[in-house]
Amino acid sequence: MSALEELYREIAACTRCRLHQSRTHVVPGEGPADAQILFIGEGPGFHEDQQGRPFVGPSGQLLEKFLASIGLTREQVYITNVIKCRPPNNRDPLPSEVETCRPFLDRQIELIDPRIIVTLGRYSMERYFPGAKISQVHGRARRDGRRVYLPLYHPAYVLRNMAVMPEAEADFRKIPRLLARLLEVLEEEARAGQPAGAEGGAPEAEPKEEGPRQLRMF
Ligand code: URA
Repeated sequence: MSALEELYREIAACTRCRLHQSRTHVVPGEGPADAQILFIGEGPGFHEDQQGRPFVGPSGQLLEKFLASIGLTREQVYITNVIKCRPPNNRDPLPSEVETCRPFLDRQIELIDPRIIVTLGRYSMERYFPGAKISQVHGRARRDGRRVYLPLYHPAYVLRNMAVMPEAEADFRKIPRLLARLLEVLEEEARAGQPAGAEGGAPEAEPKEEGPRQLRMF
């Protein structure tokens, strides 16, 4: 059994918080174990809980449409959530639930080791952009070492606020360029013998601005 499959088993058996009592299925996440792009949503909704798969309801349909706009299918990326069980009535995840589930997400990320992590909505954004406002940072990628983090609006938010659709589409379209640029820069740095993320490594594509300080704008 692969390390990822072992992790799925562990997640499926989890009873660390009360959400396990009301779930129909646990929703660990899915996608290739070597995916270069990893999406993190919030938590399973009704459809996801029914099927045990992430983003299979209306939000998932929009996510698939966004993926198609950059020539990708959901099978080519890894999709998961901050929490792996559906909160009753789709309420927001509690901080304690996010904390309890955190080691699972940490291990998924460690095992998959993606080059780009795309956060969908504020719960996953908070992990990498603590205290940031999504209306201010959406679409603004930051690099940290061998990885780029891109905070995007949650598809469910876009469906409820269709006025942000053009922005959401434009944000999504940055993904292929960011990935290509990161791979290029990492290769340049490797050739120059620089460790990933070393000072002077990545050029700044956009001006620095207020926001999380520990990561550099890519
Ligand atoms: N919304 C999420 O955040 N995740 C899902 O899997 C589905 C809807």
